[in-house]
Formats: sequence, C-alpha cells, structure tokens
Amino acid sequence: MAKFKRILLKLSGESLQGNQGYGIDPEHLAEYAQQIKAISDQGVQIGIVIGGGNIFRGLSGAAAGLDRVKGDQMGMLATVINSLALGSALTSLGVKNRVMTAIRMEPIGEFYNKWKAIEALERGEVVIMSCGTGQPYFTTDTGSSLRGIEIEADVMLKGTRVDGIYTADPEKDPTATRFDAISYDEVLQRGLRVMDATATLMCKENNLPIQVFNMDKPGNLQRVIAGEAVGTFVHP
Ligand code: UDP
Repeated sequence: MAKFKRILLKLSGESLQGNQGYGIDPEHLAEYAQQIKAISDQGVQIGIVIGGGNIFRGLSGAAAGLDRVKGDQMGMLATVINSLALGSALTSLGVKNRVMTAIRMEPIGEFYNKWKAIEALERGEVVIMSCGTGQPYFTTDTGSSLRGIEIEADVMLKGTRVDGIYTADPEKDPTATRFDAISYDEVLQRGLRVMDATATLMCKENNLPIQVFNMDKPGNLQRVIAGEAVGTFVHP
C-alpha cells in the first residue's frame, strides 16, 4: 500500500548529469524513469519539478557578467530541456506523461494550469512542470514548493545525491550526522541548506511536509512511497 496518494517529486538538474559533470547522462535518466514508473504502476499520482543546474544557472551567468534576468530565463529554459528528456525517457517505458511550462512555449509544452495538471494526474499521467515558478530570482526548489502546494500533494519528495539532511555537508565534514526528522523552524534556525529559505517557508506556511532522500539508490523512491524511514522528514 502506498503511503501517499499524490506526490510532488523534486529532482535537481545536477542529479541528471550523473558523473559526467554536465548535461544529461542517459543511463542515469533511464534509471530515474524506472523508479518513477514503479510508483506510477502502483497508482501514485506524480507531479515532477526538475532543476536546470546541470545546464545553466542564472547566478553563474550574472557572475560572468550576464544580465541576471536573462540568465534566469536561460536557467528556466534549461529546466524545460531536462523535463523533455525525462518525459521522453518515461514515454519509452510506456508511462503516459506531459510536460507543462510556466512560460508559454507551445508546442514544446502545454501552458501550466493547476486544474489541467490535476485532471491529468487523476487520469494517471505523470505531470512534469517546467520553468520553476516562471519568474526570475526564484529557484526550482521554490517552484516545487509552489507546485506541490497548488496540486495539493500529500508530500514533497526531494530526491538528492545524499541520504537526507545532515548537521553539516557530509561530503565535506566526516563528523556530520543525519536527522531522521526535523521541523521547518529548525531547518531555518540552523541555516541548513536543504532548500532555499523561500521554498522552506512556503512549505511551512502551507503545511507541505518534505521528505529528503537519496534518489541515486535504486528502489529508494519505492521505499519512501511504502512509508519506510528513508532519508529525513521535514515537518511542521
Ligand atoms: N530559475 C528561475 N526561476 C525559477 C526557477 C529557476 O529563474 O522559478 C532559473 C535560475 O536561474 C536557476 C536555474 O533556473 O539557477 C536553474 O534552476 P535551479 O538552480 O533551481 O536548478 P537545480 O539547482 O535544482 O538544478
């Protein structure tokens, strides 16, 4: 039995690059698609938001002298590229899906609309919502909080490359320990960089719990859906 009926899955752009350091690793993409298919087959309604950091980030553009808004627009287009790639990988596994865009660009994707997204989810389609919020100066973490709240998801599942939320970055500090559960307030007070503060605050104010887990371990998405204690649960 699935613990959640409707989820918002957030994947970072970087997670799609695998060990390549840039772009999209086809094997990694196919593995993610398999995990998503497994829970879709169980009847879980799945909304997805993907980042674009494997291709472009507005902040890095600004650091290199680009206009910030144009850089952010480039970043949002990067999320569309990743969303099309994941949609295509899901299609090749026979999983019905659609890519929606927060900025109009038919026929690449359908213009995002909460009610159309929910209708598609209820029909069993995976809905990939690209362009983050559609606005510059935001991140796809905030985009996923927003979409998760809009589609009335039971939980936001943040798939990362680490096993959850740690007291410090475990890739840099070997003494870092992992939380099984933590409140939104503690995440904010400790300045833990799970998501940006805007995204965490939105989840807090709208009671959207977050489960942070390692999506790079095959089968983990199914374990989270089955209610196993995988990763860190962020709660009110
Ligand atoms: N972005 C934006 N508005 C949004 C979401 C994303 O302008 O609502 C831009 C921003 O430049 C960001 C880039 O898209 O750096 C890629 O998104 P993000 O950094 O969140 O990707 P991730 O870190 O998850 O790969």
